[in-house]
This record gives sequence, structure tokens and C-alpha cells, in this order.
Amino acid sequence: MSERIKEHCGLYGVFGHPQASELTYLGLYALQHRGQESAGIVSADNHRLHARAGNGLVADVFHDHGVFSRLQGTSAVGHVRYSTAGDSSNRNIQPFVVTTKDGPLAVAHNGNLTNAESLHQELSAEGAIFQTSSDTELIVHLVARSQAETLSERIREALERLEGAFSLLFLSPTGLIAARDTHGFRPLVVGKKGESVMVASETCAFDLTGTTFVRDIEPGEIFEVDSGGQKSLRFGKPKLCQCVFELIYFTRPDSYIWGDPVDRSRRRFGRRLAEEAPAKADIVISVPDSSNTAALGYAHASGIPYEIGLIRNHYIGRTFINPSPFMRTFNTRIKYNTVAEVLEGQRVVLVEDSIVRGTTLKKLVGLLRRAGVREIHVRVSSPPIGHPCFYGMDFPTKKELIAAWNSEEEIRNFLQVDSLRYLSLDGLLQCVPGKAADFCTACFSGNYPVPIPPGEGRALLEETGEAWAQGELERLLSGLT
Ligand code: 5GP
Ligand code: MG
Repeated sequence: MSERIKEHCGLYGVFGHPQASELTYLGLYALQHRGQESAGIVSADNHRLHARAGNGLVADVFHDHGVFSRLQGTSAVGHVRYSTAGDSSNRNIQPFVVTTKDGPLAVAHNGNLTNAESLHQELSAEGAIFQTSSDTELIVHLVARSQAETLSERIREALERLEGAFSLLFLSPTGLIAARDTHGFRPLVVGKKGESVMVASETCAFDLTGTTFVRDIEPGEIFEVDSGGQKSLRFGKPKLCQCVFELIYFTRPDSYIWGDPVDRSRRRFGRRLAEEAPAKADIVISVPDSSNTAALGYAHASGIPYEIGLIRNHYIGRTFINPSPFMRTFNTRIKYNTVAEVLEGQRVVLVEDSIVRGTTLKKLVGLLRRAGVREIHVRVSSPPIGHPCFYGMDFPTKKELIAAWNSEEEIRNFLQVDSLRYLSLDGLLQCVPGKAADFCTACFSGNYPVPIPPGEGRALLEETGEAWAQGELERLLSGLT
């Protein structure tokens, strides 16, 4: 089971535009933060599908001249992928293209199913053959087996069988279909560019493609567009439960998610953090880039000036993930560097959006000390992450979570900082757009809106503190901290 792939991803789709694949490329470019491991585009020309996908960043996969003239047609879907566990082989690159009784079909998926293992067993027992370890292939098999009349009805039948998190794009030679799970864990939005329809994980992709935001795909909605127009089918019982971590970390602050600018939510988290956990300090700095907006909120509310004390190198590709022991000694410095003139002799509030394993902060504290800071007050703009995510975030096991096994004071001591405070869960929920009850907070609260059945990785919930300590030891020995 633990070999099943976990992923969080970015999706972009176009229907009815002569430059469909180029627009999809641009859309993926704007969604690159949602996944850097692989990228793919499939286009449709009314008769056939054309695919191009590979490992690496969007710009690397689509670097050659003429690539878009081969991705012909007026509709397309694209996917960027960040795999978090399981097999990262080429076979798992999306979108998937399969041949069903309707002809070719492409699928791109963002999220994580919680009944993947039992579906896999059931389908395998019935003779299905799998080429990948990803949840997406299960969905394709279910669609292919359905006896319902139209493609969208077959998709509906398939989606009725799924549990967990999924935002999906399907492309047939003649139509585009988008769907979101009944909880709406992951975002998915529809836009309009002239007469063309666009679908994206986040609105920042619409800004780049000159698209006007129309609405969210609703939880439990299958949205279909083809030459006959647009229509929607419904499945399951919708119960809104959006991933609050999308707001905290994952989405870009220039996106509008669930009807609200991410920038505004993140500033509120920072302001609230300043109210709950003030600090006596000279400057506020952020862990760039994902904490910048929350740090601004903290600075504005506290009156302590915002400074830029850490600089991040943006050009670190996947290739640096597995460096040699010699290279590892440079690990700390390659991603972040300090601005000594800003930091020397200062009492610093260091705002971080989240602590997962604690490795980022552990590295940064050493760097800041060497730059001569006098005091470090860590302020985290989310609550302690004590529970793994089964819906697609990058913390699928409990043993890796520092806050599952250590108190705030123990974490402060581990990090060797002068003070450490987290935003409270109550405080966080008062700052989200809309109703608090419409958000999934499982990673903070342990309240899983979709239960994790036995055999579906529930063991990952029951790992011990010794395993965390052992992992910590390994991280230290491998020079990662
Ligand atoms: P840690 O270093 O404690 O394991 O992880 C926390 C850091 O990773 C924070 O700087 C946060 O911005 C970032 N982060 C949080 N969630 C994720 C994720 O799902 N993927 C990646 N790549 N980074 C994350
Ligand atoms: Mg970060």
C-alpha cells in the first residue's frame, strides 16, 4: 500500500481555442509551484489526441521548436505533478492517455483517493492490469468498465465509487470534462476567454492566459463542454470541506481561491499571529517565498518593520535532490542565503507558514546565527501539524511530523531559538474566507472528514515517536539539517 503514489498537482484545460496547447503551456507555467517533477499536455483535434509529457519543469519538457504544432487541435489538458511517495518512474507522468470503447481518453488528476487500495484489489481480482502505481489509473479503469450511455455518465458512475480528494480533467477528441470530489478538497475553477472555456487549479493561471474567472467547479459537479455547449451532472452528496493548507501554503498569493484572494487570507493569518503571539523584536523577516504575505501581516499588525533577511535561490531543479556526500555539505546554503547587513545584531521575528518535519527551520536557524542575529523568535502562521494528510498534501506519515511527537517547548529547544509560537486553530479558522465548517483541518485537528479505512494506510497514523526520533537521527546523519 505505501507504494501507492501520493501527489499534489496542478491542472489546466482549454476548450475551443485555436492555440489550445500553447495556452495550456502558459497555464501550466503559472501553476509550476504546484508540481515540479513532471509536466504533460494532451491536445484534441476532434478525431485524435496528441500527447507530450516528460520529467522536469514545464519549460524543460516543452523546450523544442515545433512542439506546439504537433500538439494540434482546439482543446487540451495539462498537468504538473509533484509526487510525494511511491514510484516516480516515467509511467506515472500525467495526463494519462488510454483507449476505451469510446476511443482515446486523457485524464489528469490532482488529489489522493482514500479507497485506492481496495479499488485496486477489486479491479485486479477482476482481471484489470495496471501499468502505474497512481490513483488516476484506477479512475480510468472504472470509466472504461461503466455500461452507462454517454462518456460523462460513465465518468459519473466511476466517480461515485471514489473516496477522498480529486480534482479531475478528462479530454476526449471532441470534449473537455472537469470534476471535483464531493468535499471539494482541491480547488478547480472555470474561466472564459472570448468564446473559449478554460479550467485551472488556480486563477493565477487565468491571469497569464488572459482569461476571466467565471466560477468554481462545485463539489460533486461534473462539468462538460463540447461543440453542443456546456452542461453539468452531479454525483454523490456534496459536503464542502476545502483543504485549509491550500490557503496556508500551497496556492499562490495572487490567486483567488474559493471566491477570495489568497493574499488576504495569508495577511489575516499573520495579523492574527501577531495578536496571539507578540514578540519584542527589531525586525520581521519571512522564510521566502511562501511565508512572505503572512510575515507582512505580522509586521503590519505588530508595527515591527518588515525586512528582507533571507534570499532564496529559485533555480534549484529536481537534480539537486540526490546529491553526493560532498555536495550535501552545501545543502543549507544552496536554497537560502542571509543578508548579513540586515540581520547583524538584530532581534528577529522569523515568520514561517508551516513546520512539517522541522528541517527547513533547523537549517535556517544555523544560517541566521552565523549572520549574527541576536535573538530568533519563530512565529508559525498555522497550527502544529500533528496528523498526516491522506488527501494529497506532502505529509503522508505521522512519524515524520515533528509536532506529532514534540511539545512546542521541545520543538523550540530542538530548533535552538529564543521563542516559538504557532497560530491557534481557532485563530486560523476565524481568518479563513467563508464558514470555518467548510474547511478540512485534519492535519491540525486529526478530524478526518473522509475516514481512512484499514489497509488504506491507516498504519501511517499509528507510527511511533521512536520512528520520528530514528528519522531525525537519519536526517542529521545525512547532513540534511
Ligand atoms: P519542514 O522543513 O518543516 O519539513 O517543512 C516546512 C517547510 O516546507 C515550510 O517552509 C513550508 O513552506 C514548506 N512546505 C509545507 N508543505 C509543503 C509541501 O507540501 N511541499 C513542499 N515542497 N514544501 C512544503
Ligand atoms: Mg517555505
